[in-house]
Amino acid sequence: MAVEPALSALTPGAFSGTVLRSDFAVFDRPTRSGKRLVFLDAAASAPKPRTVVDTMADAYSHHYANVHRGIYELSEDATGLFEAARGKVAAFIGAPSKREIVFVRNATEAINLVAYSWGRANVHSGDRVVTTQLEHHANIVPWQQLTAEVGATLDYVAITDDGRLELDDLREKLGNGPKLLAVAAVSNALGTINPLAEIVKMAHEAGALVLVDAAQAAPHMPIDVAALDCDFLALSGHKMLGPSGIGALWGRRELLDAMPPFMTGGSMITKVTMEGAEWNEVPHKFEAGTPAIVEAIGLGAAIDYLTNLGMDAVREHERYLFERAWPALGEIPGVRRFGPNDAETHAGVISFVLDGIHPHDVATVFDSEGVAVRAGHHCAQPVMLRYDIPATTRASFYVYNDLDDIDALTSAVRATQTLFAG
Ligand code: PMP
Repeated sequence: MAVEPALSALTPGAFSGTVLRSDFAVFDRPTRSGKRLVFLDAAASAPKPRTVVDTMADAYSHHYANVHRGIYELSEDATGLFEAARGKVAAFIGAPSKREIVFVRNATEAINLVAYSWGRANVHSGDRVVTTQLEHHANIVPWQQLTAEVGATLDYVAITDDGRLELDDLREKLGNGPKLLAVAAVSNALGTINPLAEIVKMAHEAGALVLVDAAQAAPHMPIDVAALDCDFLALSGHKMLGPSGIGALWGRRELLDAMPPFMTGGSMITKVTMEGAEWNEVPHKFEAGTPAIVEAIGLGAAIDYLTNLGMDAVREHERYLFERAWPALGEIPGVRRFGPNDAETHAGVISFVLDGIHPHDVATVFDSEGVAVRAGHHCAQPVMLRYDIPATTRASFYVYNDLDDIDALTSAVRATQTLFAG
């Protein structure tokens, strides 16, 4: 039988979400329902703190020019801020060098970059790639495309009833000698925190490289690629309080050096003749064209904000909210929750269904209560298949959430059930 966390064992959150709410201008706006905005959809995209918006407005107003090219003060200024942001991303994930940080649009592009560049050069007919049934489509479809194109096989690691990876199945799939394992650090659909250190070790022992999809982990918990010992890591800025349109791929230097470019054009070359071109060094080899300059600077500001809170404290705060929300939802008859039952392996993402009520209807009633949640398959249709459901309602927490938000969540569940019972 499932064991609920003991309420008496809970410690207070590392900081109060109530205090942080005022850092986010969005909470000043009135809602259609006239109720307090309870934002529980950070897993889709997070609100931006004022400091990110202000930094970007300042960059556009006073520091904007194209980067890396201009031999004049404004361009040098913009280049300095852009490259400083790269350094912030590197420090944030423990990368040995900022040269290993490639700016991309989002985690999806980061994964596609690896699938196209590293994948087409290293995965051949008869080879294998392993992903899992727990993944977001962004960490499935690029591998489906690659393996179909080159005649390789894609294997999926199964998931347990409580939303964990079947480690025995992983061991078996790794036993076939795959070239790469592509795995999420945290599931966006179930909130599962995968035992990455153990997984990376198993994959390396089997001779596979490991790509970590950290889209849901980098915003919420400390990440250290050096300690993790993975080979590639993908993240999205917009989920970690930064702007949309900017994300990062981290890769081991020797891997990035050996990989062909993904896109070609300006900035990524050192020399172009009419016969051909020579590539710039990393990371510029992978950054063709004018980059998302101010978005990168905004991501740097988001990282400053998170670093100032401390990523251990961010994780602690979300664990505190989870430890209250999970049993509170479990106490309500007719609520089915998904994912691991313990706060150690469950991030601040709770997927659930209400008996007899479609998740889209749930989200609509929640909206009338001022509670913003996501309903759908969360771009993880194989997960829905595993539990034989079309969709779930998903509540996801972040730094600005507090206990009032958890109360609003459970009240919204009861209000929905009352409405549909009537
Ligand atoms: N992986 C995971 C686990 C995600 O949650 C998401 C976004 N929902 C992505 C990848 C893709 O992120 P993006 O849309 O920013 O590229």
